[in-house]
Amino acid sequence: MHHSNDHTLRPVSKDTGSVSSFYIHWPFCPYRCHFCPFVALAGQDEHMPEYHKILIQEIETYLKTHPTGPLKTIFFGGGTPSTYPPELLTETLELLADRCGFEQDHEITLEVNPGTVSPTKLAAWKNAGINRLSIGVQSLKDDVLKKLNRHQKAEEVRWLITHAAPLFDNVSVDLIVGLPGVSPTEWREMIASVVTWPIQHVSMYFLTVHEDTQLYYGVTSKTVTLPCDDEVVDLYHETIETFAKAGFDQYEISNFSRAGWHSKHNSVYWQRKPYKGFGLGACSFDGKQRTQNTKNLLKYFEEIRNTGISVLFTEDLSDKQVWLEQLMLGLRQRRGIVVADILEPLTEKEKKEFSKKSQELLNARLVSASEGKMMLTPAGLSVANEVIVKLSCI
Ligand code: SF4
Repeated sequence: MHHSNDHTLRPVSKDTGSVSSFYIHWPFCPYRCHFCPFVALAGQDEHMPEYHKILIQEIETYLKTHPTGPLKTIFFGGGTPSTYPPELLTETLELLADRCGFEQDHEITLEVNPGTVSPTKLAAWKNAGINRLSIGVQSLKDDVLKKLNRHQKAEEVRWLITHAAPLFDNVSVDLIVGLPGVSPTEWREMIASVVTWPIQHVSMYFLTVHEDTQLYYGVTSKTVTLPCDDEVVDLYHETIETFAKAGFDQYEISNFSRAGWHSKHNSVYWQRKPYKGFGLGACSFDGKQRTQNTKNLLKYFEEIRNTGISVLFTEDLSDKQVWLEQLMLGLRQRRGIVVADILEPLTEKEKKEFSKKSQELLNARLVSASEGKMMLTPAGLSVANEVIVKLSCI
């Protein structure tokens, strides 16, 4: 990428309003999956009660200085937040209901791993006010998951889908395309099954090999063989078509929903609206700065006990970074970018260059334009990164 024109960008408006979305991190997991890049702790469940106490303290400290409310979205992510003891999770939600209140059409999501759920827990979550479950399915091949140290069974997934549907109107599943050991036929069979489930939303991610994960060492030492890229990309496109036929709209590059059931919380991230994260390694964005909490559990405990705050780093976004985020996040969504907003901070020369490149992409049918917006076409979606790089090198 060229950065030679950084200094020519003029400031863009960063005022995105007040926080009405909270992210709450629950880091505990029964096992550490080999592909996991997240802040996750396996085999440390004895810290759960103290973690909950500290989390509450962090939230209370924040609310003292940042009166917040009503909340629009809350997302319990992890880790495995379905291992958050239900009576403690209820306490956290009661605190938020009491101090902040909720907007009428609020969305409260809990990430759930199959194999960590019981009928009692489902009922407790419902009573506590959880109204959306995001289920980590990933694959229905037990042996494939086991090799990746993810101990869950297809049987548990089916049980969960069946028992969640009567209680929760809004159920989402996460799938990973490109897992080692899943044949195209097996993937197709799973998708054929998924589209019949009583769910409203699907997130489909490519397997990413993150450095310093077990999977990374497996791949570099050639004990794990990944399916070839072309095969995975073809499957991905085929799956998008299958979802479309089944009534799931691809409203973001990795996300599909039935009409009206897009993820309100994730849309906050994609639209660069502010949010506040609590817990180990949690990230926050206030419209100007991105911050992240410490990722060390004992340090987190100590810092929150002492000050109520545990920030590892704060990053001020440059004008160029803000512009790039707007471009990238905008193009990853079906709604696309508002061209005038993207052009606004550019110099005359950059505007011309951007328009020229947009025209080339329009001619190649990788993007389409209507009503002042520009969005990726289905062909463009598959080369989204290339399109974004092209448009950003001005
Ligand atoms: S369940 Fe999720 S957070 Fe926990 S180890 Fe597996 S991938 Fe990581």
